[in-house]
Amino acid sequence: MAVREIVVIDHPVLRRKAKKIIKLTAEHRKLIEDMIETMRVAPGVGLAAPQVGVSERLIVVEYAEEEEDAPPKKKKLYVVINPEIVAVSEETVQGTEGCLSVPGWVGDVLRHEAIVVRGLNRNGEKIKIEADGWLARIFQHEIDHLDGVLYIDKLVSKDTLRRVQAGTEEAAEAIG
Ligand code: ZN
Repeated sequence: MAVREIVVIDHPVLRRKAKKIIKLTAEHRKLIEDMIETMRVAPGVGLAAPQVGVSERLIVVEYAEEEEDAPPKKKKLYVVINPEIVAVSEETVQGTEGCLSVPGWVGDVLRHEAIVVRGLNRNGEKIKIEADGWLARIFQHEIDHLDGVLYIDKLVSKDTLRRVQAGTEEAAEAIG
């Protein structure tokens, strides 16, 4: 495994529509391992292939769901190839997001409260993920990356965009 460089805002790969993966190769398997390590080191809770300069439809997400008055759950790792959002809740929620490709900033975005994602796992098997709350937000943020969309394109208002200091709790809100 190796940590890859995360590209930032003015890199054109972030604005390209990523290509569907037709056949899983050894190179993809290496990319998946590297993306997991890169996400963990960043640290972030998600990462999309374009963020490491690869314009292909692949995301990794790792997140522990939090419940009030309950001990934190174990982190769950998702690797999704060709992810597609196939259903969304009518209910939307506003939340503060950051992005590893837009370092030093956070802003508020409206997202569906719950979604259903279909795609393939790293063995090429079909999977379906039902996500709500913050996990649903992470998936929407990462899948946007595959379409060349950044959260700053979707701010509820430009006034919500603000600078954060690296290392602070707010900066740690960075999604991926
Ligand atoms: Zn991002």
